Amino acid sequence: METEIVIIGAGAAGIGAAMRLSSAGFTPVLVEALPRLGGRAWTVEAAGCHLDLGCGYLHSADRNPWTDLAQRSGVQVVREHPAWDEQYKNLGAEAAEWEAAGAAFDRWGERIIKCPPASDIAAEALEPDGRYNAFLQAMSGYISGDELERISARDYAAYDQASTYCNWRVPAGYGTLIASNVPLTTEIWLGIPVEKIGIEEKRLSLHTANGTLRPRAAIVTLSTNVLAGDSIIWPAALDPWREAARRLPLGNAEKLFFEITGSSPFEPETHVLGDLFNPATGSYYIRPFGRPIIECFLGGAGARHAARAGRDAAFARALDQLVNLFGAEVRTCLRPLIASDWTNTPSINGAYSHALPGQADARAVLARPYDNRLFFAGEATHGSDFSTAHGAYLSGLRAADEVIATLEHGV
Ligand SMILES: Cc1cc2nc3c(=O)[nH]c(=O)nc-3n(C[C@H](O)[C@H](O)[C@H](O)COP(=O)(O)OP(=O)(O)OC[C@H]3O[C@@H](n4cnc5c(N)ncnc54)[C@H](O)[C@@H]3O)c2cc1C
Repeated sequence: METEIVIIGAGAAGIGAAMRLSSAGFTPVLVEALPRLGGRAWTVEAAGCHLDLGCGYLHSADRNPWTDLAQRSGVQVVREHPAWDEQYKNLGAEAAEWEAAGAAFDRWGERIIKCPPASDIAAEALEPDGRYNAFLQAMSGYISGDELERISARDYAAYDQASTYCNWRVPAGYGTLIASNVPLTTEIWLGIPVEKIGIEEKRLSLHTANGTLRPRAAIVTLSTNVLAGDSIIWPAALDPWREAARRLPLGNAEKLFFEITGSSPFEPETHVLGDLFNPATGSYYIRPFGRPIIECFLGGAGARHAARAGRDAAFARALDQLVNLFGAEVRTCLRPLIASDWTNTPSINGAYSHALPGQADARAVLARPYDNRLFFAGEATHGSDFSTAHGAYLSGLRAADEVIATLEHGV
């Protein structure tokens, strides 16, 4: 089937690209392996609530394009700072400990910016034997999905300096907002993975179980772990792009949602960290928007454990942490509801990208077009807003502009 433009992947980047192409008069085909839109943006409904299994916060919300898009489509945005940096009643440690841990994180962040380690290994900015190093590793798990030994200090600093630290939320779900923006003119193939990509004289060939697409140009928005993996057969010419993807692996992050049933000690819009001294600890957002829900966020080692051990074991571990903080009676009022499994979802295979030490430049390498025919988008291709849904969206706009310039002006 001949077509002008194909977008591979219907996450925030693919949807952004479709929006830009469609407003320029093109009708792209959007091909997606999963049976739904949104990729790592996914809102599900459970216990009568909208729950985001993937992205949930409009990071840098005061300059985040999804904030404007929400406003334009009448979707409510809650413009309040979330409770995630407060420890409800200082449970689990003295107030001074929580304060000191926060200060240790701030000092580490300052060193990353002002006197970064020559090795570019973010762990080398830790205080040797620092009392709160486990806490800093847990934070690295949430922010980057991996331990500080595997994080490029320069890459981390690029994100940190671009961030406005304004984090807003969408009660109807960030995933719902993103998926609802697919333009009506886009032809959508869901549940149909591209299996092989070929480069022919004038056209590309994209092989799927639904037939072969032969577009003039394609925008590839796959996660870096999918790009680097072997679920798709690639032409050898793309080896440098796949090598760049290997240098920008996805870390791990997962969410577990409990339903609160009956009376409980849980107060709305509060937060606890499970264990200040455990790098694999869960972070628990309690009754978001007053809902009868606890959202447990796991990053790095905690997320890897959940992916390996399975849903039941992950919920049991999280419940033990909550019992330690709130008392044994909470066992009777918490019911495991739903959990993400991004690590074991073959078409995603992780959470969000981080550069390995010394590899921050790989983002620019990955973002280059190949032969003005294959264009690359996706969160990992953004130089500073990587690992976010708005970075993904902006990368989709950028790649679509590159395609438009090529097709319209032969640039
Ligand atoms: C637990 C978690 C929490 C997060 N929290 C936040 C947050 O609060 N705020 C924030 O901004 N970001 C957050 N993120 C990150 C954010 O979700 C991602 O950065 C963003 O959604 C990535 O979009 P993308 O389009 O680049 O990639 P994806 O969403 O991965 O899109 C790529 C698509 O390609 C598809 N695909 C793969 N293989 C094929 C194939 N062979 N053929 C066709 N299609 C294929 C995939 O199924 C996928 O849908 C979070 C992520 C996770 C996992």
